[in-house]
Amino acid sequence: MKMIKHYLLFLLVALSVLKLRADEGIWLPMLLEQLNEQEMKTMGLKITAEDIYSINHSSMKDGILLFGTGCTGSLISPEGLLITNHHCGLSLIQKHSSLEHDYLKQGFWAMNKAEELLNPGLTVTFIVRMEDVSERVLAEVGEEMALTEKKAIIDARIKEIIAEATEGTHYEAVVKPFYQGNEYYLIVSEKYLDVRLVGAPPNGIGSYGGDVDNWMWPRHSGDFSLFRIYTAPDGSPAPYSPQNVPMKSRYFFPVSTQGVKEGDFAMIYGFPYRTQEYLSSYGIQYVEEVEHPSRIALRHERLRIIDREMSKSDKVRIQYASKQSGIANGYKKWQGAVRGLRRAGAVSKKQAYEAEFMRRVSGKEEWRAKYSHILPELKSLYQQFRPVARHFWYFQEAAYAIELIDFAAELGELTALMQGGASEAAIADARSKALRRAKGFFNNYEPKIDREIMAVMLRMYADSIPASQQPEVLREIVNSKKYQGDFELFAQEVFTESAFTNGRSFESFLTNADLRQIEKDPAYQLMAQLVSHYYSHILPPFQQLKAQIDELNRLYMQAQREVFSEKRFYPDANFSLRLTYGKVQGYQPRDAVVYRYYTTLSGAIDKYRNHPEKGVYDLPERLMQLYQDKDYGPYGQEGEMRIGFITTTHTTGGNSGSPVFDGEGRLIGLYFDRNWEGTMSDIFYDPEQCRGISVDIRYILFLIDKYAGAGYLLNEMKLE
Ligand code: ASP
Repeated sequence: MKMIKHYLLFLLVALSVLKLRADEGIWLPMLLEQLNEQEMKTMGLKITAEDIYSINHSSMKDGILLFGTGCTGSLISPEGLLITNHHCGLSLIQKHSSLEHDYLKQGFWAMNKAEELLNPGLTVTFIVRMEDVSERVLAEVGEEMALTEKKAIIDARIKEIIAEATEGTHYEAVVKPFYQGNEYYLIVSEKYLDVRLVGAPPNGIGSYGGDVDNWMWPRHSGDFSLFRIYTAPDGSPAPYSPQNVPMKSRYFFPVSTQGVKEGDFAMIYGFPYRTQEYLSSYGIQYVEEVEHPSRIALRHERLRIIDREMSKSDKVRIQYASKQSGIANGYKKWQGAVRGLRRAGAVSKKQAYEAEFMRRVSGKEEWRAKYSHILPELKSLYQQFRPVARHFWYFQEAAYAIELIDFAAELGELTALMQGGASEAAIADARSKALRRAKGFFNNYEPKIDREIMAVMLRMYADSIPASQQPEVLREIVNSKKYQGDFELFAQEVFTESAFTNGRSFESFLTNADLRQIEKDPAYQLMAQLVSHYYSHILPPFQQLKAQIDELNRLYMQAQREVFSEKRFYPDANFSLRLTYGKVQGYQPRDAVVYRYYTTLSGAIDKYRNHPEKGVYDLPERLMQLYQDKDYGPYGQEGEMRIGFITTTHTTGGNSGSPVFDGEGRLIGLYFDRNWEGTMSDIFYDPEQCRGISVDIRYILFLIDKYAGAGYLLNEMKLE
């Protein structure tokens, strides 16, 4: 009896760890028909997989774009009008902002096409097609080959495939590994080069709640911005020219004004950046105990300094807006993830899964020979990896947090040419490139902040990494008679003596400096010492162990697909085009607390009123007025203005700005974030707790029309 009970319990755990809920998964659009279409239909999809992705005729994929290098956007008019997040457009809005034109604070709205603002360097990229090229890439790769040999063969095949795919076209192509390198896909894309800013709400709307609300539900921000793509008159991508015309969209999305209700089907199309859903329990432990805590600790101190200075000065607030939000974003997310992993019992659930894996593997001779070594080897590799990776993250988050180091490192190209005795012309070219870069850098640079960060970061690094592994220069600061561990004194000296700390002195210095003078600069010297230590002592062991872990993970992935053949596997996110689907649904964050699936403007007003100091809850007056007058036009519902809603979809960074669709492929919202309880979904998806947060599209229409008075833009859209 006891035996049977034991067995039943075991079976139950095994079954529960194998279960993949419909909501989990970051699916490949071209495999939807085969893997997902049926299930999606039962959940509420009304169109076909072919409508979502097709290479034969125009489909939804033609309206989805990679915005810049890190976000998603989508076309919402036949004239190239696109929508993405406010936080995705932030660095561009910031570039156009000054104390006189504070678009961060006031928002920006072009009232006609001539008023749209140029963004040199900004691109958007569409996917032309994707193709499984695994057979060709892996044809000559043998299981027993050395890693370097495998890599050389794979790289050579990839190069050929890319050359063939792009020959005679203006397309770009990449071949990316999927399923940890068990499969490879060719992705052909087309890039557009003239993308103009059309509209953005003020920070007080676009990032209402700021860092306090970031990664949180309930949420009240209108996180969107609008841009327009321009092409050459013949429709081809072209850099800015006054002759350029608005793009003729191949596909654009109708906008639903119907609203959403609990249980509705929802799908999100975009470019999720990276997930690690198939990590072993050892991998999760490493992230939870080493990687995230190291990064959190260093960013905590860096942000303390930046936030303090931003709150003291409008100039610094504008200069550091985009940098700060990037640093704070990861900082907060990792904290949520660590908590979420613990709360979900991710490690013990993985252990149960691994026990079932081992049970199945040992039951079959062939599997035992091929796969039984994987988990024990991963365990021992992670033991070696943990201290090495800790040092790696300390270096990344401490040394590269010092903007001066980062900036000085960019002179590498120039100094390498000088060292190698390159031609005068080549050196002059690199010199003027460096001078151009310097302009951008010093526009948004406050040496006082960086000096303090330098002292604090170097001290934390020196305090946390064993002395024997530290770069010489740190040991000197700690041990020398001169400094006796006084990092402030050291930083002060560097900042007083270096020519790198303000725009004007740097420009006159670099215009004439020879190699010896550059190398003598204390900021350059510090950079050179730190960076050379990194490349000789920190990076190589990190990369070597990581490559071994990656290779085992590849085999582990192969094994899981074979051993758990009843399970449907989706490939981890790798910044390729994906679709995820689920339902509009609230959740229960903790005992006795239930979160509703939507928020309203009344909630935003509550936050405003409850924070007399305002800070991140400073709503623009005009919005308050519209609220008081309940002037919501056709965009309200039952006397309320809805702001955000949540779905059980599986998303990650890079999905920011992704369109959210109903079952008919109509735009119902704009994805921008996840909830605090669910940020661990990059590693461990828990359907009870993980939610995607989107702005209700009706709030966006309301803001464009009623708040900004830019209703002319709605005439281009197809509202349904
Ligand atoms: N808010 C996230 C981002 O900034 C989106 C996410 O990771 O859910 O990319």
